[in-house]
Amino acid sequence: MSELTGLRALVTGGSSGIGLATALLLADRGAAVAVLDRGIDDLPKELQGFRADVTDDAEVRAAVAAAAEALGGLDLLVNNAGIGAAGTVESNPDQVWHRVLDVNVLGMVRTSRAALPYLRASAHAAVVNTCSIAATAGLPQRALYSASKGAVLSLTLAMAADHVREGIRVNCVNPGTADTPWVGRLLDAAEDPAAERAALMARQPQGRLVTAEEVAAAIAYLLSPAAGSVTGTALAVDGGMQGLRLRPP
Ligand code: NAD
Repeated sequence: MSELTGLRALVTGGSSGIGLATALLLADRGAAVAVLDRGIDDLPKELQGFRADVTDDAEVRAAVAAAAEALGGLDLLVNNAGIGAAGTVESNPDQVWHRVLDVNVLGMVRTSRAALPYLRASAHAAVVNTCSIAATAGLPQRALYSASKGAVLSLTLAMAADHVREGIRVNCVNPGTADTPWVGRLLDAAEDPAAERAALMARQPQGRLVTAEEVAAAIAYLLSPAAGSVTGTALAVDGGMQGLRLRPP
């Protein structure tokens, strides 16, 4: 028996990067795992895919219900789907702000709202939201993204308070720069990708990026019975970037 045997998990944004690594790790530790994503075509066979865009409430409700039906209920929810955005407050028009907040914040609200009735019926209910060190680090050129993750941090704490007496634990992970397809796309889009990568690496206290598997391991811990008294926390998985108070050179 593995530590998550018998538990049923739903991972949003589980088709790529941190979400995929998390879904695979939870399955490896014995959970039955469903993925909610806007793209589910290339999922490994141990994961069941349910297509939905987290900005569409009807799609989210239908996908969460279908996943709960397929798994026979839900115990664990990983709110992970998210998108990036660069720039200062002057860089993006309202339309882009609405889009990023819709995916990164309201997306988590929609999946949580749809999943809570199932989580209440579970004896081991836990939620982990994928936040970011951007929530509290004051990163340059990340105004919109940081605001969205600041909201995720506050949402996590509020949900933890609202549902603690129902036996539902709610935490978040704060990854630093994690080596996922997203970061690859970010570098590819830069004017000088090699220079951008060099600058990125220079900012890493450990001299390397965080891996998706390391973030997945933190999420799996927060979801596990071993974390039974852990709720309302943010666990940094950032190579020391924030705790060491290092500044970009
Ligand atoms: P990724 O692009 O590799 O994966 C994101 C997944 O989310 C994809 O499968 C994508 O299809 C899905 N998704 C995006 N928008 C969606 C939508 N509207 N509806 C449904 N699915 C949607 O990215 P990643 O790096 O693995 O990021 C995952 C999470 O981790 C995000 O919330 C991100 O903010 C957070 N994060 C990432 C890093 C990093 O450096 N990679 C750092 C801190 C936090």
